[in-house]
Amino acid sequence: MTTPHELAGIGVSPGVAYGPAVIVRLDVPDVPNRFIDDSEVEGELRRLDEAANRVVEALSALRDRVRERAGREESHIFDAQILMVRDQEFRDQVRQCVRDGMSAETAYEFKALELRNVWSSSPSPMLRDRIADLSAIQNRMLAELLGHPGEHTWNFPIEDQVIIVARELSPGLTVQLDRDHVVGLVSEEGTRTSHAAILAHSLGIPAVMGVVGALEQIQDGTMVLLDGQTGSLLLEPTRQEIERARTQLSRRQKLALELEGAVTQAAITPDGIQLAVFANVDLPDEIALAVRHDAAGVGLLRTEFLVTGRAALPTEDEQADYFRRVTESFSGRQVVIRSYDLGGDKFPAAFRAPAEANPFLGWRSIRVCLDHPEIFRPQLRAVLRAAAGGRPVGLMLPLVTRVEEVEAAREMMLEEALGLSRTGIPAAASVPVGVMIETPAAVVIADELARHSAFFSIGTNDLVQYTLAVDRGNARLADRFSTHHPAVVRQLREVLRAGKAAGIEVSVCGEMASEPLSAVLLLGLGFRSLSVAPPAIPLVKWVIRNVPEAVARAAAEAAVLADRESEVTRALAEAVRRHCDPRLIEAFAALPRPHPAATLRQ
Ligand code: PEP
Ligand code: MG
Repeated sequence: MTTPHELAGIGVSPGVAYGPAVIVRLDVPDVPNRFIDDSEVEGELRRLDEAANRVVEALSALRDRVRERAGREESHIFDAQILMVRDQEFRDQVRQCVRDGMSAETAYEFKALELRNVWSSSPSPMLRDRIADLSAIQNRMLAELLGHPGEHTWNFPIEDQVIIVARELSPGLTVQLDRDHVVGLVSEEGTRTSHAAILAHSLGIPAVMGVVGALEQIQDGTMVLLDGQTGSLLLEPTRQEIERARTQLSRRQKLALELEGAVTQAAITPDGIQLAVFANVDLPDEIALAVRHDAAGVGLLRTEFLVTGRAALPTEDEQADYFRRVTESFSGRQVVIRSYDLGGDKFPAAFRAPAEANPFLGWRSIRVCLDHPEIFRPQLRAVLRAAAGGRPVGLMLPLVTRVEEVEAAREMMLEEALGLSRTGIPAAASVPVGVMIETPAAVVIADELARHSAFFSIGTNDLVQYTLAVDRGNARLADRFSTHHPAVVRQLREVLRAGKAAGIEVSVCGEMASEPLSAVLLLGLGFRSLSVAPPAIPLVKWVIRNVPEAVARAAAEAAVLADRESEVTRALAEAVRRHCDPRLIEAFAALPRPHPAATLRQ
């Protein structure tokens, strides 16, 4: 429960910050309704075009600045905004309003608000995330049309070390922040996948987003203690609370140091069972950390970043270069490339994806790939080319619900391999094709799927979502999104059994594998391969090095028989508390609060 001086949001960029709040109201400029007569239409249309050109120029400059400060990938955010400014359909609609008698700014505001309403009521969290981008360009366009450009930049001096509080943070504003003066960020809108969140993370500024009521509760000068990992905010904290946050922070830092120091040690339990800990790689920038943390390879190479926020699909060459770069970075270690998990707004801007009432149950992932071979086949060729010369590359298919999907994908892969060999382009004749187990349907037919798959990897993020009917992105349901639910635990055991019976490797690549108590559960159930986000690799290895397999196995046996989720958590916590080195419990206490393991020692 939160107390009146405690607010909760989503921790999107880790770190603890303490400072006075500065409220930033970047509302859309006030636009007077102005109507025009026929003789003014041409002039207003020209004003629209000129304003759009100036906005594109300013956004291009910002993109270059971001490329310098935060990196190339982040700078694509501004390519996406430029595309929105240039969007022909939207421009035509605004122009029509001008022809119908509205001034340029009245027409632009009218259409932008209309679009905003459609997006805010969309069930797609990704579309809702893009509202900040829409606001950003709406502000810029209106400021240009009203003759006061430049108001969308920070034009007030920030001298102290402050925490910025706003309704919503656009990436354009976030990147202009000066890290020396802005120690934290809070916003009412936004989630972990918002562009501003990604930028805050890259810039190393602790941030909490999605804080309902922040602008009502926080005034200019309110002292705020923010934890960008747990998403908690304390207003006017007591000295004890500040002290506690400091202790927690220093525990985390101590643990981080200890883990870093032992990162190259193998993940072997005290009783001699070895696990392979692979990395999940979403963005190219994560490769270096995964290598530094001595990942066994890449267990999940997400490929959506190649598409999101881009104008067009990446070419086969671009993909082959990227895949090759990844395999070279992991010199000789296995790299599993996941085919496009497209859906929602994870489409290139030029792709006219249909609006759907239930995008998570909609046209996504393997379904899109199989329906659009012109998207899928170049990716298959790129994978085959990356595997040339015997490089250990695998292909993994997301959201599989039918054996036919695996058969169709493999057939296309073999056809492409044949095509490549005919043209003499160096490429493998085939790669192992594995399946992500992410739906209850896949669990039920795991025996059949195993006969058609080279390996399994369990995507628990989606598996939990579909099993428990809990939207993985819905903050209100966060408590119900549980990897310790008996229905989940038993499915994990079932998939492992099916995989073992068929003699294929079964790994877990959902976030669950990064959570220490759940890692104990997976070890005890018999998993010998996990794939986790690069920052989590040291902790997961360290847990494995400290928990005897026999202890984990006994806890997992109790977990499998448990009727309720609390019993599963209790069985795991008891095992750790009773049988493991007390230093492990101390370390768990350093974890951010939402981790069940953090409650082992308050
Ligand atoms: C999963 O669903 O657990 C998974 C790893 O895939 P993603 O999070 O990309 O959907
Ligand atoms: Mg998934």
